[in-house]
Amino acid sequence: MRCVILSDIHANLVALQAVLEDMRIRGGFDEIWCLGDIVGYGPEPHACIELLQQYKTVSVAGNHDYAAVGRIDISSLNVDATIACRWTAKQLTIEDVDYLQNLAVKVTQGNFTLVHGSPRLPLEEYLISAVDANDNFRYFDTKFCLVGHSHVPLVFQQDKNGNCFEADIPDTIQLKHECHRLIINPGGVGQPRDGDSRASYALYDSDAQVVYHYRVGYDIGATQKRMMECGLPASLSLRLNYGC
Ligand code: ZN
Repeated sequence: MRCVILSDIHANLVALQAVLEDMRIRGGFDEIWCLGDIVGYGPEPHACIELLQQYKTVSVAGNHDYAAVGRIDISSLNVDATIACRWTAKQLTIEDVDYLQNLAVKVTQGNFTLVHGSPRLPLEEYLISAVDANDNFRYFDTKFCLVGHSHVPLVFQQDKNGNCFEADIPDTIQLKHECHRLIINPGGVGQPRDGDSRASYALYDSDAQVVYHYRVGYDIGATQKRMMECGLPASLSLRLNYGC
């Protein structure tokens, strides 16, 4: 089975479409594992939810998903995110609200635990350091964990002695002979923050027991034009140029 792993789409439909097209060219996929923040910041929240629903999609909730439907307090977001969140809430259909409200914060798929932020605090914690990641290995039971939230592609490995190491995600992770437990962040689809403006995502091939990391460029200008038309904050639009 081939599972495309997406995180932090953030209502960027053009980026999501580019990823799905890239995946089609690379041989297609059977299902989508989504690590949350489908909405928030970007201009097409409804269309992104609708597109995900056209596939077999397993998704967890992100903080922006819950904020848009009032399941968490909006005051946890910064000023621009709050403006975008209020705007997003007005774009959602009753079915969209129902969909986002019913997303779980933690889901297990075979050897993988899926969460948005971290296994310890799925809606809040950013995993960007080996110290924090190391503490989190005891909050999930599977061998591997998939996280998003930071929008930075990373891998944390924990060895048998409980030491944790952080690394940039390689193009290929062989799981078959992997003796370490891993926490993998595929990076962000709709608002990358690692200095590379291209959409970042991963593919898990369960037969080959391999995770592949991919980047794909998309029409950033098209998303920015839509954001401007929607009156979303300019800073949210500009950052897409820089992947920050
Ligand atoms: Zn996010």
